[in-house]
Amino acid sequence: MPVSDDHDAPTEAARPEKREALSAPGRVKDLSSVSNPIIKDIRALGAKKGRDETGLFMAEGLKLVIDALDAGWAIETLVVAKSQLHNPLLTKTAARTVALGADVVEASEKVLGVITRRDNPQSAIGVFRQRTVALDRLDLSSDGVVVALDRVRDPGNLGTILRTVDAVGAKGVILVGDCVDPFSLETVRATMGSIFAVPVSRASEGQFLGWRTKFKGLVAGTHMTGTTDYRAPDYAGRPLVLLMGNEQAGLSEPLTKACDLLLRIPQAGRADSLNLAIATGVMLFEVRRKALSL
Ligand code: SAM
Repeated sequence: MPVSDDHDAPTEAARPEKREALSAPGRVKDLSSVSNPIIKDIRALGAKKGRDETGLFMAEGLKLVIDALDAGWAIETLVVAKSQLHNPLLTKTAARTVALGADVVEASEKVLGVITRRDNPQSAIGVFRQRTVALDRLDLSSDGVVVALDRVRDPGNLGTILRTVDAVGAKGVILVGDCVDPFSLETVRATMGSIFAVPVSRASEGQFLGWRTKFKGLVAGTHMTGTTDYRAPDYAGRPLVLLMGNEQAGLSEPLTKACDLLLRIPQAGRADSLNLAIATGVMLFEVRRKALSL
C-alpha cells in the first residue's frame, strides 16, 4: 500500500525530513518523479562512483531479483512498475522484500526506464549490496576450477564469462589488476543472473602472485605463443586456476611467468586471436569435459 505520493518531487531536496520518512525500512513508497531523491540515488548506481560510494548495485528483471533473494543476497530496495502490479509473482516478491525489512518503491515505467537507461524497462529493479570473497575463500579443493582474468575491460566479456563459469560448475572468478566493475549494469545484464551464483574475488597482480605461491594445484595460462595444445593436459583430479589475458595486451609478463603451462587453442583462418569470452568458454568446456554429462 503506497505511503506517499511524490508528484511534486522537484522540491524534495529541500525537504530532508520527508526524505527521512521515506527511507524508513520495510515500507512501500509510491514515487512517480524521476527527480525524487530516492530515484536519483538509485539512478546514481548506474555510475561506478555511485556503486563505489554505496557498495550497492542494480539488477534488472523479476527473475534476477528472485534468483538473488533465493541465493541470500541482501536487498536494499525493490523498484516495481506500477502497471505490472497485477502480476502475482511481482507482488509476492514485493511482499518478500518488505518482510526482509527493505523498501519497495512503486514507480511508473518511465521512472524504471530512466533508472536503467532503457526504452523497454523490466518490471522490477532490485538494489542489492555488493559481495566479493577473499582469495582464500575460493573453493579450490579437489578438482575445483577458478578463472583468473588479467585486467578484463569489457563488461560483456566479463558477464559472459561469469555465466559460462556458472554453467560449467567452476568455482569462481578472480579479477586481477584493473578490471571492469563486475557490478556494472552491463556486466550484471550479461551474466543473466550468474552474478548471484559465482563467487568473485578481486586482487592486485602482486596479491595474486603472492597467493599463487601457496596454491598447490595447476596454474594454466592461455597465451597466443603457448606451446601446449589446450586438449593435451589431463585436467581432472587436481584444482586448476585458468589464467586468461587482457583483450588487447594478453597476459602480463609476470602472470605469464607464474604459469605452470602455457596453452594455445589452435586456429585456422585469418583471425589473430579469439574473443576473450569465447576463448574462456572453449577452455572451460575442455577442462570440465569429464565432469559434465547430459
Ligand atoms: N593481442 C592479444 C595477444 O596477443 O595476446 C590478444 C588477446 S585475446 C583477444 C584475449 C585473451 O584470450 C588472450 O590473452 C588469451 O588468454 C585468450 N585467447 C584468445 N585466443 C586464444 C588462442 N587461440 N589460444 C589461447 N588463448 C587465446
